Amino acid sequence: MKTLAGDMNSLQCPIPLDDYPQVVMAHGGGGKLTHQLIADMFQPLFANDILQNEHDGADLILPGKHIAFTTDSHVISPLFFPGGDIGKLAVYGTLNDLAMCGARPLYLSLSFILEEGLPMATLWKVAQSIRAAALEVGVKIVTGDTKVINRNQGNELFINTTGIGAIEHKLSIRPASIQPGDAIIINGDIGRHGMAIMATREGLEFETEITSDCAPLAGLVLELLKEEIPIHCMRDLTRGGLASALIEIALTAGKHITLSDESIPVLEQVKGACEILGLDPMHVANEGKFVIFVPRKAAERTLQIIKSQTLGKDACKIGEVTDGQPGMVVLENAFGGKRIVDMFSGEQLPRIC
Ligand code: MG
Repeated sequence: MKTLAGDMNSLQCPIPLDDYPQVVMAHGGGGKLTHQLIADMFQPLFANDILQNEHDGADLILPGKHIAFTTDSHVISPLFFPGGDIGKLAVYGTLNDLAMCGARPLYLSLSFILEEGLPMATLWKVAQSIRAAALEVGVKIVTGDTKVINRNQGNELFINTTGIGAIEHKLSIRPASIQPGDAIIINGDIGRHGMAIMATREGLEFETEITSDCAPLAGLVLELLKEEIPIHCMRDLTRGGLASALIEIALTAGKHITLSDESIPVLEQVKGACEILGLDPMHVANEGKFVIFVPRKAAERTLQIIKSQTLGKDACKIGEVTDGQPGMVVLENAFGGKRIVDMFSGEQLPRIC
């Protein structure tokens, strides 16, 4: 198997663009062109000891019996946006779900569904981004698949990734573990990913460009576990935003959550963009934000550790699990005003991840 060393970004697309400037049906047909795509582009990019076996499936040795396993499909449009692209998102998105289980990410599968006519240079750019993201987090891409669908039957490119991670702690990190008195901490401002996408689609221009917060959270979570923080629950704030994540947890756990309105961080330009589009930042997707539930007495220490990391420097406490009507999230302001937080109905931001 070929391996390409050095900076992959400086290298030319290995598929001769004069012959195949675009993806054609035969790239997914299992014949010569599929073989060329895998052998010349994917295998060198994602090279590792497991992938090089070139077998029907990955032969994995796991460090223990307790693993986390998750999958996610990525259909975002546009493929490239301020702060990221579909490749980066496909790696971080799945790994962040593993991180929310308190797992150390180990392996990823990678499946492409390509639309006939996709520029080969675009696929190369996305594949390079996947490689960079996987290297950054230290996971191996160990198996994959490529399919091509007819022109106009898809939208350029879809990616599915499945992840496996090792759970190496004795905590029970899940909604059912939250308790009245738990502090709820967030690692920074909300709404950036969704608004970066919407601003791009709607052609909105702001003084400062809104960039996606797209980032891998595993490092931060592993640090908290290393410091033996007694984590009750964690959730990343993707589709549906902070509101959906907290309502889901409150419903599953049968607990009441009280948030302090003023404490929830939102950037000015995100607030502005939300106002223009009639959206509530509480409902807008994030790709590098999560909430963590910890016992009140562990809150200060948890904040300290999160704030010491780049991805958590703006962390703060936003609320608590309280005694009250189960399954409900309430937002309180400084004047004692209360409002019930709702999930939005219908599809607010399609193709956001
Ligand atoms: Mg999640």
